[in-house]
Amino acid sequence: MNQADLTARCLDAALSVILEKETELAYLDSVAGDGDHGAGMARGFRAVVASGAGSSTAGEVLAKAGMAFSNAAGGSSGALVGMYLMTLGMNLSGEITRAAQLHTALLKAQEAVMKLGKSQAGDKTLLDTLVPFTTAYGEAASAGASLTAAWLSALGAARAGMESTRDMISKRGRSAVLKERSLGTQDPGATSVYYVLQAAGDVLQSHCPQ
Ligand SMILES: [Mg+2]
Repeated sequence: MNQADLTARCLDAALSVILEKETELAYLDSVAGDGDHGAGMARGFRAVVASGAGSSTAGEVLAKAGMAFSNAAGGSSGALVGMYLMTLGMNLSGEITRAAQLHTALLKAQEAVMKLGKSQAGDKTLLDTLVPFTTAYGEAASAGASLTAAWLSALGAARAGMESTRDMISKRGRSAVLKERSLGTQDPGATSVYYVLQAAGDVLQSHCPQ
């Protein structure tokens, strides 16, 4: 399977897992937010999957996916996830032959999200999953792991990062009362991003084993 098709499969799997977890994501967002996170992510990934055809590289698939996501998902997570996918795509040109190439693109995408959201790890956002994932991926890649092996090995760090948001108070919410209320509940954005990374890992494992 070529890399464009493989990337499209990963995005299909992202849509499936988001639909499967939509109710849980809505619940997590309802504790201190407006409860629309599951629906927004589902709308975004539906548009991504519909935008899929006609790209010849992984980078093109992801750049197009990012634009589709931003336009469809709405809200702050729509803008952030859309920006992430778009920046990832724009930093992947041609065929990916080394795991380190993806690490560079993951870092750029993460930086773009930090800048747009004016946030960093520890603020109880999707970055609490992304930052440890990217760090662990980079470490595995520099130690010589293949892209698939590096991705799979980084999922543990991503999961720990996601779970760590339970003990955080959101710095991003709309009111102090809602921010306080977020303590004890995992961040919805950190959670949906973890599910997407895991679903993509399953696709990599079955279609592109180490
Ligand atoms: Mg919301």
